[in-house]
This record gives sequence, structure tokens and C-alpha cells, in this order.
Amino acid sequence: MNSVHEGGCLCGAIRYRVTGEPALSQVCHCTYCQRRTGSAFAIVVAFEEDQVEVLGTTLTQYEHRSDESHRWIRSHFCSRCGTTVLVTLERNPGVRVVSGGTFDDPGWFKINRHIWTRSAHDWIVFPPDVDTYEQGYVKLPRN
Ligand SMILES: [Zn+2]
Ligand SMILES: [Zn+2]
Repeated sequence: MNSVHEGGCLCGAIRYRVTGEPALSQVCHCTYCQRRTGSAFAIVVAFEEDQVEVLGTTLTQYEHRSDESHRWIRSHFCSRCGTTVLVTLERNPGVRVVSGGTFDDPGWFKINRHIWTRSAHDWIVFPPDVDTYEQGYVKLPRN
């Protein structure tokens, strides 16, 4: 039996449902995530696209080019309240990254990795039981 978890944006116009376990669940300290969230880091929970079903209004998207790789990263957000619900990446076709804080139960998955720690704020203290990476970590089980 696959587990089902739901979430959505702040105003409720966008809802989604994911089935099964995430391929990755990590905290990202990259400068893109810092700016797009306006915060210190993003909670990045990655699924295969067929695990994610978006319900409700269509998401609006914004395409950003990475400073380093020059590949695109797209934020998919609610045009009404501005919550970024999903992110997709050119380098990971077929993967949907869910913004971890938008789950109705934002604690159902376990964070086991922190990435792009080279741009982490200097007050961040990493838990002892997580792996840390100076740069990205994009290897998915199917690769
Ligand atoms: Zn909304
Ligand atoms: Zn990031």
C-alpha cells in the first residue's frame, strides 16, 4: 500500500497529492532557494512526476537560469497567494520537487541531507545525523 500525502498553497487554490515515498528529501541552502523563498533555505522533497498530482487551478511558472550551470530551474507558484508549490529542473527531467513546508503534515518525511552548505548562513547548525554537501546532490535512485 502506497502512502498518500496532500498539501497546497496558502490560499487553497492549489492543492496536490503525492503517492509513495520521496526519492530525495533534503534542505537546500543555495542562493536560488534563499532568494525564491526569501528565507535561509528551502525544504526540497523530490518525487517522480507520476507520483505527484496537482489539483485545482493551474500553477504559474517562472524560469530562472542557474548562474553556474546555465540550466533552467522553474518555480511553479499560485498566482493568487504566491506560494511556490513545485520546482522543476532542466537537469532532472521527470522529477517534481515539492516545497516541503506546503504539506498539510510537513513532518511526514525525514530530512537526511543538507546541500549547498557553502552558501548556508553562518548561524545554521547542522544536525549530527544528516549528510552535508558543499554543493548539490542530484543523484536519484533510478540514475
Ligand atoms: Zn494560493
Ligand atoms: Zn536550492
